[in-house]
Amino acid sequence: MQHPDRGESVRGLRCKHILTMQEDRPLLEDGMLLLQGNRVADVGPYRELKNDCPGPVEDLGPEILAPGLINAHTHLEFSHLRGRTAQGRGFVDWVLSLLQLPMAEVDEASLEEAVSGLRECGTSCIADVTGHSPEKINRFLQQTEMEYALFKEALGFQPARDIQEIWSPFPDPEEDPRLSLSGHALYSTHPRTLQLCKTWSQGEKRPFSIHLAESPEEVDLITTGKGGLADLLLGTLLPEDYVPPGVSPIPYADQLNLLDQDTLAIHCVQIEDKDIEILRERGTTVCLCPRSNAFINVGVPPWRALRAAGVPLCLGTDSLGSNTDLNLWGELISLLEQSPEAIPLQEAVEMVTVNPARILGRYPELGTLQPGSMASTSLVPREVRHQVT
Ligand SMILES: [Zn+2]
Repeated sequence: MQHPDRGESVRGLRCKHILTMQEDRPLLEDGMLLLQGNRVADVGPYRELKNDCPGPVEDLGPEILAPGLINAHTHLEFSHLRGRTAQGRGFVDWVLSLLQLPMAEVDEASLEEAVSGLRECGTSCIADVTGHSPEKINRFLQQTEMEYALFKEALGFQPARDIQEIWSPFPDPEEDPRLSLSGHALYSTHPRTLQLCKTWSQGEKRPFSIHLAESPEEVDLITTGKGGLADLLLGTLLPEDYVPPGVSPIPYADQLNLLDQDTLAIHCVQIEDKDIEILRERGTTVCLCPRSNAFINVGVPPWRALRAAGVPLCLGTDSLGSNTDLNLWGELISLLEQSPEAIPLQEAVEMVTVNPARILGRYPELGTLQPGSMASTSLVPREVRHQVT
């Protein structure tokens, strides 16, 4: 018990089921959570803790209480683009629609609304990627109560001169552990820039993220230099004399040394067994965004095969430019509906709690309910309960 020597009052939450996500006792029946300030003071069976709470106890009834959710991939900077991009017409049409919109003009009201949506479903932390409005998003996140990792995104085929150029406008990223780097994608960010980002991240022990193997057109472009995305990008973002690496995205990312246990690979829809083996060997975490994939119409990620191989999985909503809302439970429900065979509840919830907390370096303070962890919680919706064992 940690609460008696702190000044703040203790309050209790009683619930029929509590998913603590602790390794030794992940699920409690008729549990009690004691909260003090913004931390968990204790968690255990109600019968053991009922006399330890001097403050009010709220009884949540027959619900399943879980840790606050961690959305492993968003772009808050696109919150003003909801309903304005091409839906269901494939990746190239989606990119074309995005390019016609004012991507760098996100407003405070859209950001506030997006964060309200995140909170409503029990999200306590986001891994956010920003390339167009880094200062605005950083300032905004600093003044919210949302926990976050902010990935500054490198984009463009002019190789970066040095790491300062990539980090600009952030002068001292070393001093804020919440800041990380992201490469936009293999086809849109120069390989030397991607390697600079990854090397810096390794040196600072920070996660690195990249959109990887999202659309069939990305695979065409990387392997053959042809296809719809090549037609769109050659002579604009990519030089006319662009030479494709000639291998598919996962082996190419591996050749560039971008894949290790601190890399978060976003999407991984267009992958085969040999790619999954590479991801497994490197210990890379994959962030699935199934509703964004469906919105754009790029296919379904082979998450059952990733799971069978033991690749750590997270879930992200991606942005409101390719999703209808930022409800992470919606992402999990969509994923579970893609397979007739139910998986255990604890494993499903790991994808939105423990696994993202680990890759962001925030485990067990986030992603679990145990003494000392953050006092953030969520309730498992009925639709999830129907899809799990
Ligand atoms: Zn994204």
